[in-house]
Amino acid sequence: MQLIEIYRSIQGESSFAGLPCTFVRLAGCNLRCTWCDSEYTFSGGRKMSIEEVEAEVKRLSPAGLVEITGGEPMLQERELVPLMECLLASGYELLLETSGERPLERVPRPVHKIVDVKCPDSGAGGTFRMENLATLGPADEVKFVIASRADYDFARDFTRQHELERRTGGVIFSPAFRKDAAVARDVSHCVVDPRDLAGWIVADGLNVRLGLQIHKFIWAPETKGV
Ligand code: SF4
Repeated sequence: MQLIEIYRSIQGESSFAGLPCTFVRLAGCNLRCTWCDSEYTFSGGRKMSIEEVEAEVKRLSPAGLVEITGGEPMLQERELVPLMECLLASGYELLLETSGERPLERVPRPVHKIVDVKCPDSGAGGTFRMENLATLGPADEVKFVIASRADYDFARDFTRQHELERRTGGVIFSPAFRKDAAVARDVSHCVVDPRDLAGWIVADGLNVRLGLQIHKFIWAPETKGV
């Protein structure tokens, strides 16, 4: 497998936000989202075997939460599926962060899929593989990163059309964070004001979670390995 980093920090997103978590960040991505904060994953990294990854995860923490992220981890599905099976067998609770552009049928059922459906302003709108809707259940969450009112309208309509509030474990609307935020760690660097987003959600009567990426408010946005 091609790995960028394995580290222990605090989960910043999803309903698991705030919990200590070991992150396994895989290299490579086939999308180029305008607000991407992980461009350093697009190339490079180092080769590790499944056994080496598992050993490093166990060294950092013998139990608890592990997130597989990237880049797009499902690009390495052939090695990733056996790794997830090994980690589940060792008792870890697993999150998989993915755009849903690659097929998700082979992801083991107990893994919580956190699927980042791309909105139009990401520049990668329309890349979500609609067949993946059938793989989503109560253990999974769908996230929309929102950079404009048009993105919000897309996320709202997609959520309603596909009954995501009912069929998944949660839907998250998260304001995009500016790439040039530098050392800033406050809401002024959200592309959409969270107060506006909160107002739209309430006005439309949606049962979705307003998600602020808490790691962006703890560490400088450009910091890696947090
Ligand atoms: S899918 Fe994720 S890693 Fe890939 S470009 Fe988009 S935000 Fe960046």
